Amino acid sequence: MPTQLRFPRRSFLGLLFLFSLSTSALYFIYSAPGIVNEYLFMVQARGIQIRENVRSIGAQVLEQMVRGAYSNVNGTDYAYDFNLSEPYVQTTTYLPEGFTYLPSQKCPERLPSMKGPVDVNMSEVTLEEVERSLLEGDPSLSAGGHWKPKDCIPRWKVAILVPFRNRHEHLPILLRHLVPTLQRQRLQFGFYVVEQAGDEPFNRAMLFNVGFQEAMKDLDWDCMVFHDVDHILENDRNYYGCGEMPRHFAIKLNKYSYMLPYNEFFGGVSGLTVEQFKRINGFPNAFWGWGGEDDDLWNRVQFAGYKVSRPPGDVGRYMSIPHHHRGEVQFLGRYSLLRRSKERQGLDGLNNLRYTPQVSRRPLYTNITVPLTRELAPVADY
Ligand code: UDP
Ligand code: MN
Repeated sequence: MPTQLRFPRRSFLGLLFLFSLSTSALYFIYSAPGIVNEYLFMVQARGIQIRENVRSIGAQVLEQMVRGAYSNVNGTDYAYDFNLSEPYVQTTTYLPEGFTYLPSQKCPERLPSMKGPVDVNMSEVTLEEVERSLLEGDPSLSAGGHWKPKDCIPRWKVAILVPFRNRHEHLPILLRHLVPTLQRQRLQFGFYVVEQAGDEPFNRAMLFNVGFQEAMKDLDWDCMVFHDVDHILENDRNYYGCGEMPRHFAIKLNKYSYMLPYNEFFGGVSGLTVEQFKRINGFPNAFWGWGGEDDDLWNRVQFAGYKVSRPPGDVGRYMSIPHHHRGEVQFLGRYSLLRRSKERQGLDGLNNLRYTPQVSRRPLYTNITVPLTRELAPVADY
């Protein structure tokens, strides 16, 4: 008897082991999207930083030796200077304090009210508290988070679109920073939180398409800013207007050691004029789960002959609110879709999208709740 029992028990333990092995493997493939990428990038970024520092120290040591030799010859003395940080370049193109403009004139783009670094406060706060303090600051802020300057004509009418599901603690933090910044930038703006309902994997890109269509029914916006809820800008000179070219705002993220992960990176916060967005047929609808949709947008922009513009220096710095990927899945099909970006551009986007939204006005934003399924954006064979 005991010998007969031993075998099944052993195989049971073996099965248990295999099961736990495969679930942890699945965890790393599906439930921890980005973690590995992020880690590898951090290692790479550290490497680049160290290499740059070593190179710069080497150059300085060489310079000191040459100077030393020179001073020995002619007797002059040089102070040793091992300051490796780049000198801070003060831009002089911003208008001076007290500069006046007329209500009949277009608002300047580089206002004296845009001071540069923003005090980032990541502490949690309720939406009601943020509503109260923002309305106290400026009572002309109206439902849906709509605002426009009175002392000049805004250069851009900007709709801020925020893709959303179950990140309630992030939204008030974002609004607390962004509303005053946009006011200082003298832009007309409104916020649209596009919330995904249903059980499908998150589809950030499709939410942006829905948000675009709905926002345009609300007001004739001319500039769309596609904004992750967990990205907090660190510099108010990062002007949220659009331009001749599609714009990438979030280029230096704290979680990527303030370095652009790769040249084609177009994630986090980006902006296109309504005209540009229509011309590229919006975002793709076929990216279910984490990753790839921003790269596809980059491809679309390139195929349309645009060249992405980015803010200079440290203006594009952001802090991202730390978060977990609670049960979200990586989109493993993204690589094969990305290989066909060009063929899909005309077939999948604004032109094949159907949906039924529920729209409600809140004090600081318009909520657009929409159940998303794959049938809502059918793609003809290509
Ligand atoms: N998002 C959300 N709920 C989710 C997943 C994503 O609201 O369950 C939105 C949110 O705006 C977030 C953005 O989509 O900032 C990008 O997703 P995520 O932050 O997970 O991407 P990562 O920062 O890991 O690249
Ligand atoms: Mn995030």
